[in-house]
Amino acid sequence: MTKPLSIAEASCADDYDPNSMPVAKAREFIHTFLAPVAGVARVPIRDTLGRVLAEDIVSPVNVPAHINSAMDGWALRVEDLAANADAALAEVGSSFAGVPYGKTVGPGECVRIFTGGVVPDGCDSVVMQERATADGKSIRFAPGVRKGQNVRYAGEDLKAGAVALPRGRLVRPAELGLLASLGVGEAGVYRPLRVVFFSTGDELVSIGSPLAEGQIYDSNRYTLHGMLTRMGCEIIDMGVVRDDPALLEQAFRDASEIGDVVITSGGVSVGEADFVKQLLQKLGEVVFWKIAMKPGRPLAYGKIGKAHFFGLPGNPVSVMVTFYQFVRDALLILQGVNPLPVQPLLKAVCTSAIKKAPGRTEFQRGVLYLDEGVFKVRTTGEQGSGILKSMSDANCFIMLHDHVGNVDAGATVDVQVLEGVI
Ligand code: AMP
Ligand code: MG
Repeated sequence: MTKPLSIAEASCADDYDPNSMPVAKAREFIHTFLAPVAGVARVPIRDTLGRVLAEDIVSPVNVPAHINSAMDGWALRVEDLAANADAALAEVGSSFAGVPYGKTVGPGECVRIFTGGVVPDGCDSVVMQERATADGKSIRFAPGVRKGQNVRYAGEDLKAGAVALPRGRLVRPAELGLLASLGVGEAGVYRPLRVVFFSTGDELVSIGSPLAEGQIYDSNRYTLHGMLTRMGCEIIDMGVVRDDPALLEQAFRDASEIGDVVITSGGVSVGEADFVKQLLQKLGEVVFWKIAMKPGRPLAYGKIGKAHFFGLPGNPVSVMVTFYQFVRDALLILQGVNPLPVQPLLKAVCTSAIKKAPGRTEFQRGVLYLDEGVFKVRTTGEQGSGILKSMSDANCFIMLHDHVGNVDAGATVDVQVLEGVI
């Protein structure tokens, strides 16, 4: 991994424009100065689920460990059949999974074998039972037996000493099973990321209190709670912080001391940014971007002390869109995931007409469905960036790229599927 750049270095690039930052550029920029957090723990393998391997797992054994049969049938040597096409071989014993024959098979002999049973010495092939006829212990085989057929060789899947799982791999059920199959009882994983977050705004009320005129309930801390928990982060919710410079300064200081990452919402739009900007310039190295996207235009990103900082917009949908477009990848990198998972884009027929001006990327909330084998998508309706229901109803983002203008009903669009991401 190359050494991350500093923000000052990275922002000197020719095409760096904080007032109109393309989505892809912002994403690339963020990636240039992130590296996995230090800190590794050795844990029993069940506890590695959802964590990221901090070490290569080298196989201590051959997989499979022994030469074995892929079929139920008879193990034999092809030579014996080649000599006489009509030959009947004498069944001299059996090999079950876990109970091998244990002796060498001689000329003219065969062994009854079952899937996973060790192929005995002297045998080189297995004929499946459907291609053989048994007359007592005398077995005849259909013609066309190939040497080595239906045999799994020791180390064929994985050789002892080879890397079974690389550092950077997220542990999912398949990895758990693979670790177990190697007899590995514990593994080194990166420690969980500690993410501290708070909401900013004088209008925000926490649930449990009644709303006075002009006040709203704080929902961003709940979506953040959900998104971060799903990503396996250790979270610290600092509540609501008023739009007061002294309180905000204290909150930023406290958060950056305890978190690997600090995430805030609100306070980065034009009216409020200046004041947060001054504060963050004092405390760290932070850039304010107007990203060429909708929703989620203003975004602050940088470092406060050692902590990575994401200042998300205040609108609830913008929080979720900016999280999934920028913060998620950043957290994955900090968690040690390598390579980053690709985010698949699906082509779908858009059944809604969408008004859009070229020049920025839009993430409309959509419902993807199958209609007689064809992927189709419609918008969830009203797309205001305060309408959280549009996120709740959605199973995808309709991603309308920078250059795209109005979309006619029936046009093909790119869709980011949320299933498996959210
Ligand atoms: P701001 O970016 O602070 O100007 O906020 C933009 C819009 O999002 C305003 O309408 C805010 O009331 C709303 N908003 C900000 N923070 C939250 C929050 N935590 N929960 C719900 N709405 C919010
Ligand atoms: Mg605000």
